Amino acid sequence: MTIPYNSLRVRVRVAHIVDNYKALCRPGGETIPVIKADAYGHGLIPVARALSAAGAATFAVGTVEEAVALRASGIPGRIVSLLGPIDADQCQALWAYDIIPFVHHPDQLHLLAGVARHMDSSLGVALKCDTGMRRLGFTRKEAAEAARIITAAPGLHVAMLSSHLATADDPEDVDYVAAQIQEFTAIRDTLRKAGLTFQSNLANSAAILAHPEAHFDSCRAGIALYGGNPFHGTPLAHLGQGLKPAMDVATRIVSVHDLAPGQSISYGRTFTAPDSMRVAVVAAGYADAYSRSLSNTGFMLLGDTRAPICGRVCMQLTAVDVSEIPSAKPGDEILLLGGQGDEAITPDDLAEWWGTISYEPLCLLGLNPREYI
Ligand code: PLP
Repeated sequence: MTIPYNSLRVRVRVAHIVDNYKALCRPGGETIPVIKADAYGHGLIPVARALSAAGAATFAVGTVEEAVALRASGIPGRIVSLLGPIDADQCQALWAYDIIPFVHHPDQLHLLAGVARHMDSSLGVALKCDTGMRRLGFTRKEAAEAARIITAAPGLHVAMLSSHLATADDPEDVDYVAAQIQEFTAIRDTLRKAGLTFQSNLANSAAILAHPEAHFDSCRAGIALYGGNPFHGTPLAHLGQGLKPAMDVATRIVSVHDLAPGQSISYGRTFTAPDSMRVAVVAAGYADAYSRSLSNTGFMLLGDTRAPICGRVCMQLTAVDVSEIPSAKPGDEILLLGGQGDEAITPDDLAEWWGTISYEPLCLLGLNPREYI
């Protein structure tokens, strides 16, 4: 899915993603870049290439299709699909492209075991266990049996044990992290006692930064790679302070005009000029994935000055207050995200105005045409 005709332009600094990756690497353990959802909107293949050149040896993608695209583009190393196979065609692709699937359900094991019978080589799978997220995965009770089925099937073996933390970014809920670590450790030890050897990973970005006890022998880093601070707005915000956002989103001013005191602007008349003011109408709106929830709350960046959004964000137009920026004129570039220095709009700033987390604006705005700088 892309947004082909509209005005937004996304610029990605892959060098910042590489810097963040290096900052997230820990001695003695592997950091696996999570590049699902088109690398959180930054571009699957360019991001994988840059990280591969920087030494990443394993990549986690969202789907088997994404893994195939990555392999087909020549990325070496291990590729893990966080969502395992749902049908037999996807199973064939796992062997054909040397992909490690997450498995979370017995149905997948039966599918894989059936296909494995016709294959010459053994496929490593990542056993996804549920330690408290309660979304997908085998419980402690089920995990040992799932591992037994995998190892008993000719052509399958357990390459990885994985689980996902529900509250690692919440400094108020460390007890739940501890409980998940305990559950994960118990499952790992049971499987080890059964004679299996595999890699174990539990930590996401927040746990990489704040919970060394969750690191095991590998971690999966997502949002922090892209400069999102999982602790934005919390007392632990300093842990993510050095991360470098990698996405700028730019568009242009279409028109600049004055509003007299008492004049309203945009649909629904939700903004009325308190005094004489100057507004710029900008080519950006919800059809560009610039959320309507930014109406009257967000800012854009013109030069080094933040311009507040006035009134409703429309389908392809949004007005901002440029009263403090007399030089503003049609054709000027204006940033929706990014920029340099203190006034830059970070993914976390944008997410806060948007009423969400940084993951969402990055994934959505990244659907616009991208270039790499
Ligand atoms: N592992 C799994 C299974 C995930 O689903 C995700 C992202 O949602 C990650 C790791 C990376 O998490 P984060 O982006 O918070 O680092």
